[in-house]
Amino acid sequence: MQQKQYLLPDLPYGYNELAPYISEEQLKLHHDKHHLAYVNGANLALDKLAKARAENDDVDMKATLKELSFQVSGHILHSLFWKSLAPKTKGGGGEPSGELAEKINAEFGSLDRFKKEFSQAALSAEGSGWAALAYCQKNDQLLLMQIEKHNVNLLPQFKVLLALDVWEHAYYLDYKNERAKFIEAFWQIVDWNGANNNL
Ligand code: MN
Repeated sequence: MQQKQYLLPDLPYGYNELAPYISEEQLKLHHDKHHLAYVNGANLALDKLAKARAENDDVDMKATLKELSFQVSGHILHSLFWKSLAPKTKGGGGEPSGELAEKINAEFGSLDRFKKEFSQAALSAEGSGWAALAYCQKNDQLLLMQIEKHNVNLLPQFKVLLALDVWEHAYYLDYKNERAKFIEAFWQIVDWNGANNNL
């Protein structure tokens, strides 16, 4: 049986198009090295399982599935992160519109309050993690997630509308250890249209 592979997606914009909020060098490193490492890691874990299956060998299921969950989640979240951003000249930043704006206002009270809560989720993620805005279909409501690593505190089946990577590798070339500045920059290039379409 042909082993299926995860693939690194192209960015939906040029490497230099998010500057000065995310520099070309930072974006290139993040996409070409870090994201690729999760794609490769996910494929390695799949290969390991496939090989053991083919040879009817034992495999350390606990360790391998933990690895698979971490790497695949890393790949999926990075793919969502790239789509959460847009160059200023292509609609990045500003304010949301449509159904997303209505839902944010209805549930958070205002856009400012939403941005404050999302920023605090991003800022207070311990070590490596993510802040995400998700939609719960069961209750037709928006919820924030603070994801540790790539895969802890993820709510299953909730649709991620916006994801912000706050691992240090996302910002250290541009902002050193100042995560708050990176979060501020994120609001300048956030793709509200994409988030609204995800909804
Ligand atoms: Mn990352």
